Amino acid sequence: QQPPPPPHGADPARPRSPPPPRKDKPVPPTPPLHIKDRGRGVTYSRTGFLGEGGFARVYEVFDEEKTRKAVKVVNKASIKTKKNKTKLWAEIKLHQMLVHPDVVRFHDCFEDDENVYMVLELCENGSLMDLLRRRRRYSEPEARYFLVQIIGACLYMHDMNVIHRDLKLGNLFLDGDMNVKVGDFGLAALIENPGERKKWVGICLTLLTGRTICGTPNYIAPEVLFDTANGHSFEVDVWSVGVILYTLLIGKPPFQTKDVKAIYRRIRENRYEFPPDKEISTSAMDLISSILNSNPDMRPSLQAILQHRWFTDGPFPPFIPHSANDGTPDFS
Ligand code: ADP
Repeated sequence: QQPPPPPHGADPARPRSPPPPRKDKPVPPTPPLHIKDRGRGVTYSRTGFLGEGGFARVYEVFDEEKTRKAVKVVNKASIKTKKNKTKLWAEIKLHQMLVHPDVVRFHDCFEDDENVYMVLELCENGSLMDLLRRRRRYSEPEARYFLVQIIGACLYMHDMNVIHRDLKLGNLFLDGDMNVKVGDFGLAALIENPGERKKWVGICLTLLTGRTICGTPNYIAPEVLFDTANGHSFEVDVWSVGVILYTLLIGKPPFQTKDVKAIYRRIRENRYEFPPDKEISTSAMDLISSILNSNPDMRPSLQAILQHRWFTDGPFPPFIPHSANDGTPDFS
């Protein structure tokens, strides 16, 4: 059986084989070429490697209808602790209930003796982080287009009482038509009672050890780090939207430094600047500054962000062409 050819726009620069083993991390066995969901009697054929995260490796597959999909594979040996099992269960439960055009679609979930498999919508143009690495910065029209979709996903998630809590360029994927799909619900939380606030011990552990277990702290809202008594809620995603917008337009996150502890310090002091050599519009600066308010209650709502004049201050593209993978498209 031959896999269908990659569509136009697929990125040939994306890795097709898993990276070499890292010394500090045991390498899980490669999943079978033909991954079987015995319960449904469906077989997925593995065709390529898409990437890896904290616990999972993600592979490209095609199903029996020859539709290309992504399969997130979590090796059971890596989730032996009760805490890790609970985390994976929460990710599956929350992702499964979200069905929206701006959210990576969760198709199927099953297990065999070795692994847990999550079958997801394939996002063939990688993540916004992959694109930023090649492009260095995005233009304001592109950022407008992407931001509307990201906010659309947030409005829906919040409506479903889900806080994503890990919105960052690496978790914003691009489908074959260059539309954004929010993915990776590994740190998401469900608000079960109105007004409930989440307390997060995972982050405190990160602070104490100085190591980051859940990736970069760059996008984390200050109340998650420093107001552990009051907890946090939906506004943490709004903060991340501000960090995302800054990062798209400037090319690096606002509080970024080499030293992780210095990032925490900068977030606490709300210390960031707009580099004069990276010119952006005053309305973009105004919007970013209003979102990056240390006080979660003073941040604009997602609806208010969409009403900001930055969205009508310049071109709003009808779509993002595939040429955006290599250079700034001309929207004038
Ligand atoms: P983790 O939850 O372990 O952090 P991720 O969900 O972030 O794992 O996935 C790891 C990598 O796999 C991503 O950075 C991306 O490169 C790739 N990936 C994940 N989901 C998809 C998808 N739906 N389509 C294409 N690539 C994906």
